[in-house]
Amino acid sequence: MSLFDKLRATADRVADAGDGPLPFATVIDEVLNPTEVVIDGRRVLMCGSNNYFGLTFHPDVLAAAHRAIDDWGSATTGSRAANGSFAVHQQLERTFATLYGLPHARVFTTGYQANLALVAGLCGPDDVVVLDLESHASLFDGARLSGATIYGFRHNSPDSLQRKLAHVSDPTSCLVVIEGLYSFSGDIAPVAKLAEVCRSAGAYLLVDEAHSFGAYGPRGLGCAEDHGAIDAVDFIVGTFSKSLAGVGGFCVSRHDALEWLHFTARPYVFTASGSPANVAAAHAALDVLQRDPSLRLRLWDNIRRVRLGLHAAGFQLNQDESPIVSLQVGTAQTAILFWRALLEERVYVNVVLPPACRAEACLLRTSYSAAHTSEQLDRAVDRIVQIGRSLGVVPVPA
Ligand code: PMP
Repeated sequence: MSLFDKLRATADRVADAGDGPLPFATVIDEVLNPTEVVIDGRRVLMCGSNNYFGLTFHPDVLAAAHRAIDDWGSATTGSRAANGSFAVHQQLERTFATLYGLPHARVFTTGYQANLALVAGLCGPDDVVVLDLESHASLFDGARLSGATIYGFRHNSPDSLQRKLAHVSDPTSCLVVIEGLYSFSGDIAPVAKLAEVCRSAGAYLLVDEAHSFGAYGPRGLGCAEDHGAIDAVDFIVGTFSKSLAGVGGFCVSRHDALEWLHFTARPYVFTASGSPANVAAAHAALDVLQRDPSLRLRLWDNIRRVRLGLHAAGFQLNQDESPIVSLQVGTAQTAILFWRALLEERVYVNVVLPPACRAEACLLRTSYSAAHTSEQLDRAVDRIVQIGRSLGVVPVPA
């Protein structure tokens, strides 16, 4: 098959989606505020971002980004290893290290690159990476880039992990990779149990808290904190692109190995460092989250309000409470129809289609924010329920 034939197969799949707006190809013409955007000239309620605390327009975050541009310019124009770190990178690293009570922290240009750098920086062809099978693409890509032997274990199953680790001859050359909160399903990992399996086998554990940072744990540090397992995890990774309303990634660790990645991890060494505005905005968002725990309370109130409404209408919800409320809607065709009907009703959500899920288990992925009002949430639930009934996804009340 030629290079372009493969892309033609993609074009055919897109054509299969029929007429109407295409999932994965939405253009947002204007962002009115953290919960409302303009699409195709119409005001649309955003229930498909990862802006979990709605901080993208917070005055402190905007002021920090503006100040950073004034002080440092628009870009770093190079890699930290080759061209030097700006003080703003190091300041944010110190804040993350202090927050977690760990000696080492590093920031990365994106969360994707943080995962690539960690997995491919720590592991090489003689090593083994064992991933939860529902791990994010960046974690699988890091494993591939490393050249290590790759094993997958059954989603969230400590027994399955234990069985895989039994095949690893030298556990000290093995990195186990999980997420705190899984981005499609909204499932939460049993972090403490998985960490215990790693500890007894002697393997290292990396937890990606991309979606859980901010929302879980007494101080919002993620699922490892929530499960009292920060000390049992070797590397905690996160992103700025969700709760922290920016672009970038971070890792904290008790191991000084993290420091050496500065010289060796290709996805860190061979790319420009995060822009001053992005780094400063994330730092300001972190300060806001630490200062104002009411944001977390509002987020959880909102999550429970939505779940209650959808559950009462008969939707099968993911078991764990999270800002991600994924609804099983059936085939890709139903999922696309559902998504379009919601957009027509001015509600934007995400859709998960094969190969990211089984053919008959497509998802509408909705997500919520501390910034949503009760009225907005009730409107979203009402529209989802009405359309779910009209498409036969949930029963119509007698
Ligand atoms: N990890 C997970 C679990 C993610 O969902 C994502 C992005 N959606 C990333 C990492 C990558 O983060 P970023 O967008 O900051 O590159």
